[in-house]
Amino acid sequence: MLLCAPVALADGLPDLGDPAQTALTPQDERRIGEEIMRDVNNSNDVISDVEVVDYLQGLGYRLASNSGDLPQKFTFFVVNDPSINAFALPGSIIGVNSGLITAVDNESELASVVSHEIGHVVQHHIARMMAKQKQNAWQSFAAMAFALLAARSNPQLAGGTMEAAAAGSIQQQLDYTREHEREADRVGLQILDSAGFDTRAMPAFFEKLMKGTRFSEGIAPSFLRTHPLTTERIADTRNRAEQTPYRQVADSAGFNFARARIRAITGNANHAVEWFQSVLKEKRYVDEASQHYGYAVALVRANKLADARAEIAWLRDHAPRNPMTESLAANLLMATGDMGQAETRYKQGLAAYPNYRGLIYGYADLLLATNQPDAMLKLIADKQQAYPDDAHLYELKSQAYTRQGKQLLRHQAQGEAYFRQYDLRGAIEQMELATRSPDGDFYQKSSVEARLKQLRAMLDEPSR
Ligand SMILES: [Zn+2]
Repeated sequence: MLLCAPVALADGLPDLGDPAQTALTPQDERRIGEEIMRDVNNSNDVISDVEVVDYLQGLGYRLASNSGDLPQKFTFFVVNDPSINAFALPGSIIGVNSGLITAVDNESELASVVSHEIGHVVQHHIARMMAKQKQNAWQSFAAMAFALLAARSNPQLAGGTMEAAAAGSIQQQLDYTREHEREADRVGLQILDSAGFDTRAMPAFFEKLMKGTRFSEGIAPSFLRTHPLTTERIADTRNRAEQTPYRQVADSAGFNFARARIRAITGNANHAVEWFQSVLKEKRYVDEASQHYGYAVALVRANKLADARAEIAWLRDHAPRNPMTESLAANLLMATGDMGQAETRYKQGLAAYPNYRGLIYGYADLLLATNQPDAMLKLIADKQQAYPDDAHLYELKSQAYTRQGKQLLRHQAQGEAYFRQYDLRGAIEQMELATRSPDGDFYQKSSVEARLKQLRAMLDEPSR
């Protein structure tokens, strides 16, 4: 039975044949993906909080590394939107609404939807849909796909009639067929199973979506509009899930804390404080520690620092240590102006969790606030080994050089930050400013000139 299960799950998937036949070249897809990520990075509708992003990336990579595809090619981001949705975009980019993360009953349900989206990517559904469009339609597709998806649960956001008409045609292109849905479910179930999640969570969550009764706060599942759901599809998913061994899976601390963090950092700070107060008072929670954590985050936001300190003390006494509480404790010390203690706390946190970006960013902010650019540059150089493509680390580096009064290095670092946000023109502009800087030695100047030449050549590539 165990040996048969994966075969049964994979059964019935079409042979994709030569990927070139999808008519969208990998270069096209990469370019469109970069354009989308540039929009995503500049969007106010996206939650850029590094701790929330890193939770989703971590979950996404864990799932994608069980998809048979390279996990590194996937990018995951969180849309600040209370409606229940997730979507795949060209370039192996997957967006997940904050409303989905907070609405699920457990981590396996969230993993089900993310796996389903990974299934659409692995089966090349988007490339196959886009291949049917005329070549010049791709450009507008890329530009509008993200804006549309972000706005579709808020129809009043979509402005004039022209935009609405264009949005309508793109919406049609983005809606999956039933065959696509079946394929994505099957791949998704395989991924869930190999990643160690509860496969029964997929049909269970789909059933809840379809009944819709749980989602009363005006968060009608927009997921259903793009991913047509039928009783047959749920039955098929349930049959397949039941062929895999039953497994009880506990939610990770990261999942519980990231959910609480989303509630704490979105919307009005005082409302968030009240929300956690009532949840804790009425004991409306499955996991208590994460609620105290979310309450503390909301209290720091509302500048109620003494109350926040009490919550952190509670966490210290009642919950296992984790990087999110470490980061929050150090952040609170900094907010109260206790810079010496905050520095000690960041150092301790990073000793335990050396690659946790929430701690890295927070410690860099502290070093900037206490005017220690040398130590800041040392920290960044050390951590860039683990995160060579992190744009924010380059931005922090640029701020440290600015503090030191180093013009060339400041613009060079800012240029590298823009490059990593897929803003090639912005990167070139900064490198030009770097070459014109009055400071910098011979080696620094020639390195900037070589990089500028390279970036200009990229801009001239015919594919761009
Ligand atoms: Zn789907």
